[in-house]
Amino acid sequence: MASEGAGGAPALFSVRMRAAAGGPHERGGWHVSGAERILCADELPRAVSDLVRRARGHALGSADFIQVTVERLPASVPVIPGLPVTTLAAAETGEARRVAAELLAIAGVDEGVARAAIGLLAAGPGPGGSLMRGAVVMDAATGRRQEPDPARGVRVSTVDLAPGVHRRVRERLRRAGLPSHRVLEAAVLASKGAWAGTLAELCWSDDPGYTTGYVAAPRLGYVRIPYLKPAGVPVGGRVFFVVGGTDLDAYVRRLEDEPALVADLGPVSPPVPPTRFLEEIRLGLAPTS
Ligand code: AMP
Repeated sequence: MASEGAGGAPALFSVRMRAAAGGPHERGGWHVSGAERILCADELPRAVSDLVRRARGHALGSADFIQVTVERLPASVPVIPGLPVTTLAAAETGEARRVAAELLAIAGVDEGVARAAIGLLAAGPGPGGSLMRGAVVMDAATGRRQEPDPARGVRVSTVDLAPGVHRRVRERLRRAGLPSHRVLEAAVLASKGAWAGTLAELCWSDDPGYTTGYVAAPRLGYVRIPYLKPAGVPVGGRVFFVVGGTDLDAYVRRLEDEPALVADLGPVSPPVPPTRFLEEIRLGLAPTS
């Protein structure tokens, strides 16, 4: 039987996994995989074994350090809105990056800063071109980096879809022909980013086999862009753009420590030509209208 929290609602647990190869992250191991779940007690055993299996079978290498943390959450967790999901029919990396830069500019990022952020992810955003476990936090007007630790970055944590919503959302994503696992995880993370006060986000994976990245922003939704990096490249990362004057401590605390449940993802649209999407957004139309 599920254990109960205050007021009779089932108790919720945060499950966090981080995995590295060549030893723990702190002793020079390279990051292989990470994940976030929020679950009821009776879902824990299966979820933990799924996460361990995932870390052992990751494309970046099989982890030899896997840490799973299970923590009971406070009785009441805020429920936040999920971003709508749009996929742009970009055909190659040059076009994909031009579109990403335009979307970031529409969301309020300085054009030069947007281009520099794309260059930063292409080069590897960590010290000496290394990968980061978390995200860069960048001032949207100046491009100055704000994350307290430029090797680790800021990690969005303690977020998931609300209990009971997963299966329905996965099914919806699968029916739209999308890789449900990846899309769900990234869209949930981007939704928490938007809730925490992020102006816009840019991301592509360091997984060499996964080339679709995205730009997300409250005004744009979660916008997937195929070919944002060329195939076979094991370099990627995330940038959260913030406006100047953001209270950085409070912002990072929200992203990393404050639990949140995403009520549902917004509508999932079929692939749309980038030019049409840009036009609609410039006209002030919502991503899915
Ligand atoms: P992924 O899409 O999982 O390959 O992640 C792409 C990049 O995003 C990674 O290289 C990290 O720099 C960053 N990242 C991964 N997980 C998180 C997270 N939970 N919070 C912030 N940044 C992350």
